Amino acid sequence: MADDSPFMLDLNDDQKEVRDWLHGFAADVIRPAAAEWDEREETPWPLIQEAAKIGLYSLDFYAQQFFDPTGLGIPMTMEELFWGDAGIALSIVGTGLAAVGVLANGTEEQVGTWVPQMYGDPDDVKVAAFCSSEPDAGSDVSAMRTRAVYDEAKDEWVLNGTKTWATNGGIAHVHVVVAVVDPELGSKGHASFIVPPNTPGLSQGQKFKKHGIRASHTAEVVLDGVRVPGHCLLGGKDRLDQRLARARERARQGGGERIRNAAMATFEASRPAVGAQAVGIARAAYEVALDYARTRVQFGRPIIDNQGVAFQLADMRTRIDAARLLVWRASWMAAAGRSFDAAEGSMSKLFAGETAKTVTAQAMQILGGNGYTREYPVERMHRDAAIYSIFEGTSEIQRLVIARTVSGVPIR
Ligand SMILES: Cc1cc2nc3c(=O)[nH]c(=O)nc-3n(C[C@H](O)[C@H](O)[C@H](O)COP(=O)(O)OP(=O)(O)OC[C@H]3O[C@@H](n4cnc5c(N)ncnc54)[C@H](O)[C@@H]3O)c2cc1C
Repeated sequence: MADDSPFMLDLNDDQKEVRDWLHGFAADVIRPAAAEWDEREETPWPLIQEAAKIGLYSLDFYAQQFFDPTGLGIPMTMEELFWGDAGIALSIVGTGLAAVGVLANGTEEQVGTWVPQMYGDPDDVKVAAFCSSEPDAGSDVSAMRTRAVYDEAKDEWVLNGTKTWATNGGIAHVHVVVAVVDPELGSKGHASFIVPPNTPGLSQGQKFKKHGIRASHTAEVVLDGVRVPGHCLLGGKDRLDQRLARARERARQGGGERIRNAAMATFEASRPAVGAQAVGIARAAYEVALDYARTRVQFGRPIIDNQGVAFQLADMRTRIDAARLLVWRASWMAAAGRSFDAAEGSMSKLFAGETAKTVTAQAMQILGGNGYTREYPVERMHRDAAIYSIFEGTSEIQRLVIARTVSGVPIR
């Protein structure tokens, strides 16, 4: 994309229109359903369908936002939907992680074939899953064990292993699976595969009961002799062979230039978007706390009249705005084709994720006893926020990436 896109903090008229439309859906459809789906701990299919009916859950809409030259389309979308409710919003946007996995590693033909199938259509909505994490390979992606072996005679890949923590895992129409093709090369020997709908051998393992984002389905995915056609290798066999040959050559020469692996390419592209989700949760909790502080009377005056409360609100708002600025900067850099030389994508996810945890905790404190109950939404927002220092790279791993990038030292 163009390197000369100006950095703008004002949304243009089209973006404002989309933001207001998203906000309306978040306020009128998502927010009123949030407590119910949190309790049910189930994928809110009717809400995904409602989003699909108005074009919000569709490849067209996300493609339009993804290719917005200002870079602000996706963060704006995430912030508004997650302001509504994080669990439901994750069910609506979770497919995007798998779609980005295909966009980051696939050929044009693969993008055209598989990404539309991930969304289905408004009368028959589908979701997709991106499966990288494993029981023994979370932060340490190089410990991945799921194997992909090429059966040349049949031009098929055979996948075996167990994936864990997969958002939409097992209920997805299309699964994107990262697997080891050359164990000698660590994370450089990984590749991503499409597992098409109803492929024998893929099954859902346990579904996790979670602390927060409970409307979003998280489960193990078991791959037992799963056979996929050769064209399901993202990027194609020629590109994989060339990449592996380069990696082997560098390994022989003792290291050298870093090669991006398949899972990392997906995470790099999605980190600012995940930061924007955290900004949405933080903003929602801050707004509830601000309203409450204005109306709750103790000692004969609204609690906001006390500096002890008002200053907390000032800090909350400052942190939220700072987080949004980091997210927008990284999103603009990505759209403008700038490389993250100081790990700006990781910075945005780190700061926004920690902000969501801090701000939702402060909001709960400002609501006192009410904040601790399920009568008020900040209790749920606080539980939802906790995931933002864990998934898509923990806060410690973001710090590791930033520290390594800015110092050039292979810090452990
Ligand atoms: C709700 C949910 C949804 C998810 N969705 C997906 C998904 O769709 N697809 C997918 O592939 N994965 C998904 N994940 C997995 C997620 O990305 C991992 O949980 C995350 O990367 C952390 O891995 P881990 O849980 O194994 O923790 P571990 O890697 O075991 O880490 C445990 C602790 O040790 C710390 N730690 C580890 N190594 C270091 C180090 N070198 N330096 C300092 N600290 C360190 C970590 O920061 C953490 O605090 C999801 C997880 C959850 C909980």
